[in-house]
Amino acid sequence: MTSDSIRGKHALVTGGNRGIGLAIATALEKAGAHVSVVSRSEFAHGAGSGFFHAIGDVSQEAHIAAAFAECRRANGPIEILVNNSGIAKSAPLAKTTSEMWNLVLATNLTGTFLCTRDALADMIPAKWGRIVNVASIAGLFGAPYIGAYSASKHGVVGLTRTLAEELREFGITANALCPGYVETDMMQQAIANIVRHTGVTAEAAREQLAQTNPGGRIVNVDEVAAAAMTLIEGDATGECVVLPAV
Ligand code: NDP
Repeated sequence: MTSDSIRGKHALVTGGNRGIGLAIATALEKAGAHVSVVSRSEFAHGAGSGFFHAIGDVSQEAHIAAAFAECRRANGPIEILVNNSGIAKSAPLAKTTSEMWNLVLATNLTGTFLCTRDALADMIPAKWGRIVNVASIAGLFGAPYIGAYSASKHGVVGLTRTLAEELREFGITANALCPGYVETDMMQQAIANIVRHTGVTAEAAREQLAQTNPGGRIVNVDEVAAAAMTLIEGDATGECVVLPAV
């Protein structure tokens, strides 16, 4: 299957207004997809002019029902879904509040569930679909101070593997991307946190993060988008693709 099979398809990217989601939405548009983006806020200046945008919080069932309905009115049934919206909060587990835990799980894991369930209403009857879940390397391994985040992303990986098995008979693939640190606003927040808590320079904090990644380097958003496109163009299912590849 080539990107010709993406041409003309409706691709919905959650959190496609910046960072990794914007890079994936842009790659899909370049391949000829009709792109819809759902996020809580608008695009950064100049970005995403060709996309249909609906406002919605992925953790809220009613928001998703309304936002996905708007996207269908604009671009038709959903054929490609990229569950990318996510938040990262860090704290030692003993200091993780219930509010923090619930917010991270609701956004990263329940959001993925709600969006997938909604999109399947189109994909199952069509007997074709592509689902890419942006998980994290924290969905495969543990690390200090990211209990809620890591639990949510392990949940996304588990959900992806289940979806792959359940949806195979309908011609729908479900795969996960598991990047290490990627150059986005979210990574800048992680750097700021380290600087605040340890007093090291931003450069030193950045190097610490790079060293936790496979290959010892930070990933850029276009690498993540390229990996997403490979999964969408192909027939593989149940994969968890670690980035950077080493
Ligand atoms: P950003 O913080 O740059 O972007 C996060 C995106 O998610 C934004 O578009 C944001 O839009 C959207 N979002 C957040 N909360 C919600 C919500 N409740 N409802 C709808 N949309 C929401 O992060 P990244 O681009 O870095 O992250 C994208 C994904 O990649 C996340 O799932 C993250 O966990 C994952 N990831 C990131 C890594 C990194 O190092 N950057 C590494 C591994 C995985 P808005 O605020 O407008 O709603």
